[in-house]
Amino acid sequence: MMKIYEKAPAKINLLLDVLRKREDGFHEVEMIMTMVDLADRLEMEELPRDTIIISSQAGYIPLDEKNLAFQAAKLIKERYDVRKGVYIHLDKKIPVAAGLAGGSSDAAAALRGLNRLWGLQIPEDELCRLGAELGSDVPFCVTGGTAVARGRGEKLEPIASPPQCWVVLAKPPINVSTADVYGKLRANELSASDHPSTAGMISAIERGSFGDVCDGLGNVLEKVTLDLYPEVLQLKESMQRLGADGVLMSGSGPTVFGLVSKEAKLARIYNGLRGFCKEVYVVRMLT
Ligand code: ATP
Repeated sequence: MMKIYEKAPAKINLLLDVLRKREDGFHEVEMIMTMVDLADRLEMEELPRDTIIISSQAGYIPLDEKNLAFQAAKLIKERYDVRKGVYIHLDKKIPVAAGLAGGSSDAAAALRGLNRLWGLQIPEDELCRLGAELGSDVPFCVTGGTAVARGRGEKLEPIASPPQCWVVLAKPPINVSTADVYGKLRANELSASDHPSTAGMISAIERGSFGDVCDGLGNVLEKVTLDLYPEVLQLKESMQRLGADGVLMSGSGPTVFGLVSKEAKLARIYNGLRGFCKEVYVVRMLT
């Protein structure tokens, strides 16, 4: 039986703005996202029986219909009338419910992988549309790179890669529900100064100005999560104090990332954070 592998990298939000809450309850967002080289790995093997089986070494994620890779496989099978089955093993490396889109990236990798495994030749923009049905971060995870995502996350505009740097990720031992954080955001009551500047960040990236990228980092969900979980604020302040050049919470949190230009600073930041936070990763941006 044919077997293929697909990488599912984590994303970080250099910027996350919510423009407004729509009448239908959805939030209109403006996000600038990029991938980092912390990745899950999916192994996909064709099964002769018409069934989807998920396994993982991680004990703390659902392996049934609730798993986003399962949902991706189900969607593609239904839409393209595929009568074959698949066995998907998820080698999880991305922390779960962390704000790093681990589940969304697994779903995107499953869409890409099954497109290959079953020889469906679905174009990328169609894979993105399928992804949008699974979650608002999935379309970006299908294409990867660096992009501005608008609407509910499905309108993607690829942009240049940010200036290369190190990314320190630290996840406090709490799980944050994305729905909960959005639920507590009073999107239509934000003042002009609460919104980060998307145009400013795009310009900083295009000019390759590391300093301006650090200064332009912003996430409107940060205040909501920091109010709920003071330990996230503490982590942010520690990362700043230890010398990271720019620090921000990713997605709805609780993972905080620090951008660092000089390799010589990394050991101090890593060791300082490890003193009170178990999950710390030093990675590169994927360019
Ligand atoms: P985002 O940044 O897109 O909001 P996240 O990093 O906050 O995502 P995920 O790691 O994607 O969150 O997990 C969110 C929830 O989805 C978890 O509670 C988990 O049980 C469920 N889930 C479903 N499929 C997966 C998967 N393949 N990997 C991880 N979690 C999954």
